Amino acid sequence: MRLVLLGAPGSGKGTQAERIVGWLRIAHLSTGHILREAISSGTPIGLSVQAVVESGGLVPDEVVSSIVLERLADPSCQSGYVLDGFPRTIGQAQALDAGLMQMGQELDHVVELVVSPDILIERIVRRADQARAMGIPIRADDNPATFKKRLDAYLAETAPVSDYYRNRGKLRLVDGMQDPDAVAREVLRALGKS
Ligand code: AMP
Repeated sequence: MRLVLLGAPGSGKGTQAERIVGWLRIAHLSTGHILREAISSGTPIGLSVQAVVESGGLVPDEVVSSIVLERLADPSCQSGYVLDGFPRTIGQAQALDAGLMQMGQELDHVVELVVSPDILIERIVRRADQARAMGIPIRADDNPATFKKRLDAYLAETAPVSDYYRNRGKLRLVDGMQDPDAVAREVLRALGKS
């Protein structure tokens, strides 16, 4: 199964992606996670993207698309994958299509978790408060001001990606405002797995 999981920051993509890869035994590619790892290891790519990631902006399409396409060619992705956080722009969606065509592959599903902006902001403020109370370090881009910038980037750049897939008859919408188990059940239904 080759799946793209779309949704705003804070919509629950990471949580749902973890469940899906557990059920289906496929790879999980989270570009946010890959970029944060590159930053914490101080690799050349990490150093080049650190400022933009930490300020809530988007990493250039060429950088992130080539990271993803390289990973998709890896044997670990042979039995399928969930793309979480990619594509985030129309340019990335086109690069993904071109790369998949070269590999003789096609996406099976695109699922979008739909959550209203006021609930997203509420969730992120709660997540930061909980982390602070537990003494857990807060992600550099998870403070409310930076989160607002990530949300703005999502609305400007990523929302059109939904139309890109809707126009190709691939998009399925799932209400991401239910509790995580109910969201998971609906995602499974959207994948034809329930
Ligand atoms: P995430 O964990 O998916 O919320 O991503 C965290 C941050 O990584 C984003 O705010 C961006 O700065 C960067 N990032 C992750 N995925 C992408 C992408 N597909 N395109 C551009 N930037 C990305």
